Amino acid sequence: MSNQELEQLRNRVDEMNAQLLKLINERAELVQEIGRVKEKQGVNRYDPVRERSMLNNLLDKNDGPFERSTVEHIFKEIFKASLELQEDDHRKALLVSRKKKKEDTIVTVRGHQVGDGNVTFVFGPCAVESYEQVAEVAKSIKGKGLKMIRGGAYKPRTSPYDFQGLGVEGLKILKRVADEFDLAVVSEIVNPADIETACEYIDVIQIGARNMQNFELLKAAGSVKKPVLLKRGLAATIDEFINAAEYILAQGNDQVILCERGIRTYERATRNTLDITAVPILKQETHLPVFVDVTHSTGRRDLLLPAAKAGLAIGADGIMAEVHPDPAVALSDSAQQMNLQQFDEFYDEIIKSVAVKA
Ligand code: PEP
Ligand code: MN
Repeated sequence: MSNQELEQLRNRVDEMNAQLLKLINERAELVQEIGRVKEKQGVNRYDPVRERSMLNNLLDKNDGPFERSTVEHIFKEIFKASLELQEDDHRKALLVSRKKKKEDTIVTVRGHQVGDGNVTFVFGPCAVESYEQVAEVAKSIKGKGLKMIRGGAYKPRTSPYDFQGLGVEGLKILKRVADEFDLAVVSEIVNPADIETACEYIDVIQIGARNMQNFELLKAAGSVKKPVLLKRGLAATIDEFINAAEYILAQGNDQVILCERGIRTYERATRNTLDITAVPILKQETHLPVFVDVTHSTGRRDLLLPAAKAGLAIGADGIMAEVHPDPAVALSDSAQQMNLQQFDEFYDEIIKSVAVKA
C-alpha cells in the first residue's frame, strides 16, 4: 500500500470521526431534551428497560466486524455519558446553586443581616435549662454588642435517658430573654409539627445534624417565613448537605444559613472532624451564608479559638459556640461549653481576627 493510499484511508477515518462526534453530540442534545421532559413529568431519568431495548435493537442490526459485546460496551458508555449530562443539567438547576443565583443571599434575622460581609456570632448554652441561666448568658452577649443567642429547647440526645430539653417551656424562656435583651434567638426544632408554634417564639429555626435528612422537617421549615440554620449531618457529604438545603428552598424559603459542625471520621482526638474546606466549597457552590460551629466540631474547649480563627480565615460568615454560666453542671455538653470568663477571653481574641480580616 502506497503512502498516498494510507493517507487517503486516514482522511476517511478523520471524516468519520468528525461525523461520529457530530452525531453523538446531536444525540446528547436530544437526550438533554428528554431529560427536561422527564423532569417536568417527575419521571426517573434512568430507565433500564429502555436501555435494554435500545441495546437489543442495536445488537439485532449488528453485522460486524465488531463483536456483540464490543457494541454493547461502546453504546453503554454513550448511554452513561448521556445520563450524566442529564444529571449535570439537573444539578445546574438547583435553587441553592451559584449557577442559579450569582449574588450572595443575605439572611435577615430580626433586622440583623447575616452574610453581608460582616461576621455574625451566635453564642449561647447548649440547652435551655432555666430563665436565669439563659438571661445570664444573654447579658454577656448583649454586653459585647452582639445580636443573637442560641439555646436548645428540644435536644436530640444519643440516649433517651439524657435530658431531652424543656420543650415549649424552653421556647418561652428564650422569647422572654430575647425580648428583654433585644436579641434574635436560634433554636433547634426536631418535629415538623412544632415548626408553626416555634415561629411564635424564635427567630431562626435550627435543624440539627441528626435531622439534616429528615425531609419532612426540611419541607416544614421551607414552608414558613423564618430563617433556617441547617447543620451538616454527622456523616453527610457536601452534596447531601446541599441537597438538604435545596429541600428548604424548593418550598419557597431562601433564608437559609448552612453550618459546618464537623463530620464523623476515625479520628478520636476531637469529637468530630471539622471539615474546614467545606466552607469555601459551600461558598463556591451555593449562594447561602456559611457558619462554623466550633463547639460540636471540636468538642474541646482548648480548640474553640483556633478553630474559630480557621473558620474566619477560610471565609465563614459566622461562628457558633456554646456558652454556659456554669458548664460543670450543664445538663448537656458540659465538657465543651465556655464559662462566662472564658467567653470574654475567647471573644476578645476572635474579634482581633475579624479586625484583621476587615
Ligand atoms: C446543637 O447545636 O445544639 C446541636 C445539637 O448540634 P448538632 O446538631 O450539630 O449536633
Ligand atoms: Mn451542644
